[in-house]
Formats: sequence, C-alpha cells, structure tokens
Amino acid sequence: MKTGSAWDSALSQLDDAAREMNLDPGVHVARGPSKGGIRYHPAVTLEEVKALAMWMTWKCAVVGIPFGGAKGGVVVEPRALSPGELQRMTRRYASEILPLIGPERDIPAPDLGTNEQVMAWIMDTYSTREGYSVPGVVTGKPIAIGGSAGRNQATARGVMYMTLATLKHHGMAVEDARVVVQGFGNVGGGTVELLHEQGCKIVGVSDVKGGVYNPEGLSPEGLRQHEAQAGTIVGFEGGDEVTNDELLELECDVLIPAAIEGQFTHANADRVKASIIVEAANGPTEPEADHIFADRGIPVVPDILANAGGVTVSYFEWVQDLQAYYWSEDEVNDRLRKIMEQSYVDVLRLSEDRHVTMRTAATMLGVGRVAEAHATRGLYP
Ligand code: NAD
Repeated sequence: MKTGSAWDSALSQLDDAAREMNLDPGVHVARGPSKGGIRYHPAVTLEEVKALAMWMTWKCAVVGIPFGGAKGGVVVEPRALSPGELQRMTRRYASEILPLIGPERDIPAPDLGTNEQVMAWIMDTYSTREGYSVPGVVTGKPIAIGGSAGRNQATARGVMYMTLATLKHHGMAVEDARVVVQGFGNVGGGTVELLHEQGCKIVGVSDVKGGVYNPEGLSPEGLRQHEAQAGTIVGFEGGDEVTNDELLELECDVLIPAAIEGQFTHANADRVKASIIVEAANGPTEPEADHIFADRGIPVVPDILANAGGVTVSYFEWVQDLQAYYWSEDEVNDRLRKIMEQSYVDVLRLSEDRHVTMRTAATMLGVGRVAEAHATRGLYP
C-alpha cells in the first residue's frame, strides 16, 4: 500500500504550511530539550526517523509543551528476540546514545516495538553511568521507577478526547458511533477500550496479522482475552475476518489508524467510507490521500494533534521526575484533557480562519511557534 516515504510526506506537509505562512526558510529548531520515541521495527530507516523527529517538533509546539522533536530507531524485529537478547540490545543501544540523551538534552520514550520495560533498561543504563538515579532521562517508564500515573494510556486518551471533540463539532452522536481502529497495541488497544467506555460501537479492529469486523460491535474484553491466548486478534470468534486493506475501507463513522505510516495513499483514499479520520499513528496519510480526503470533505484530525496526548503526559512525567513530586491519575488526566481540548480549538479556529485543512493548520501552528522561539532567541555567535 505504501508509495512515498514518511520523509517525503513530512517535507510536503511542511511546504504546505510554510507557503501559507510565508515562512523564512532559515528557521530551524529552537525549542528544547528534545523529545521523541524509540522505535524497534524491521523497516526503520534514517529517513523515517528524520520524519518522525520533525513531526515531534511540530507536535510539541502544537500542544504548547517546552520540547523540541527527536526520534530514535533500531532495525530489528523485537518479537523475534528473547527477553535477555532484548535487554542486551537495548543496553548496548543506550550506551551508544549516552552522549546524546539526558533530562536537559534529549528524553526518549516508547514507540512502535518498545515499551516501559525498554525505558526502564535505558534509565538504568544511564543512571549506572551517572552513579545515581536519573528518572528524568526517559518517559513512559514503570511507575515503580518514576513513571507517571496515566502515561500508559495517555496517547489513547488523547485520541479519545480528539474523537469526541470532532464528533461534537460535526454534530454526530457519540453513542453508537461506529469506530474502526487499525492496530491493537498500546495506542490502538487503549483507544478501543476508552471509546467503547464512552458508548461508541467498535465495529472493526486489526493488528499486523489481520483484522476482525462485526457491524453489531466487538467486545474489547473478548479481543484482549483472545489476543492473550493466540498472540493476535485474528481468529476472534466475535466477528468476521478481514484483511488490513479491507479494514481501512469498512463502512464506519470514525476510522482510527493506530499502527504505522503510509496507510492511506492515492490508491485507496477514494474507497475510504469513514465520515471522520483521527490519526493515532504517526504519518498514516500520504499527501496525495490528504488531498483526496479534503476534496471528498472527510475531516482528518492530524497525527501531530490527535496523538499528542502521549508526549503531553511524557512532559508531565518529566516535570514530576525533576520535582520528585508525583500527581494522582485524575490530576494527570484532567490536565491532559484541558491541553488537548484547547489545542483542538486552536487548530480548528486557524483552519477555519485560513480555509486550510486541520493538518495544514496544525503544522502552521507548530511551525509558527518554533519560528517565534527562533526569532526571539536570535543568532549567536
Ligand atoms: P505498538 O507496538 O504497541 O502496537 C502497534 C500495533 O500495530 C500492533 O497491534 C501491531 O500488530 C500493529 N501493526 C504493526 N504493523 C502493522 C501493519 N503493517 N498493519 C497493521 N497493523 C500493524 O505501537 P504503539 O505504541 O501502539 O504505536 C502505534 C502508532 O502510534 C505508531 O505510529 C506510533 O508512532 C504512534 N504513537 C505512539 C505513541 C505512544 O505513546 N506509544 C505516541 C504517539 C504516537
């Protein structure tokens, strides 16, 4: 399905926003420390990591948190490694990047193929070198070593807030809204559960091996139980089997890509039947598909807004680590909701004022804030 690279998509989105803003081409990153996830996946490339880092830069600026963007990646299939191999590889990788990371410098977090255990090993490797505990060097770590309440589900919770806000804006009911989610990992699985709790009907879900569909609704708990036994949601008896390609073209109200980049292209965007797309994954829509969705009047809540809940609570985690003072889960969720809802309104207003898509508006907002920081700091020496 994939046609262009994530880096081409990121550059094209930046061009769209820069044109609209008459941006000075000399602008570069001026906010920091930098922040981004570490990805373990067989298809990782330098270009992909650069694209993901660029999106992180705009994303942090869109939600107004004081970080620049970063990203890391290892070309590996983590599921093929034993726990011992995964730990040794992680600690070796962490050793290689020790000069780059640190609470004031660059703060990794989980992404595709990495999790809180991987973050714990990185934190321990860094702390061992420093000679004392440095929880603020990574986020998305277990609560036992300085993680934040609510971080595990933060990205999914942000996606839920964005879905509810979009349904409301378009005058659509939340109750029984038909939702399809691609990906059943940290983000996709959490999104399925949270939207089901809100009364939405989850009609389609997939993972890397394939998907299931039931127009009457799927049980998130049943999916979890099946996945725990079978290692995949494929074969779940509560629905009919569909491929990932078919899943993206199912009849639904809300379609949420929550797996990998490049899922919507010029080849399939015409066949998407969803009323709304909310991008939980990074870079799921290629620029040609974006134009098709805009022409067809399908609103797309862009990744740099829709999935910003994760980095927002990562920011909360870092703040808590630096202060060694921890907040309750309700406090975390409430602060997250306020930031996400305000960011949604900021992006929506700009998109309406300038007659541009939500993606171009979000990119303009993010790039504009980075440009302002750049201009305010000035150039030295
Ligand atoms: P994860 O590894 O926990 O889960 C990924 C899911 O996608 C799994 O169910 C996997 O089977 C499925 N998948 C993988 N390749 C697929 C393919 N080719 N087709 C269909 N399904 C496929 O990863 P995650 O942390 O949930 O991340 C998912 C997406 O969300 C990524 O794009 C990531 O960059 C983005 N994201 C994650 C976070 C976070 O906090 N974890 C924050 C922001 C954005």
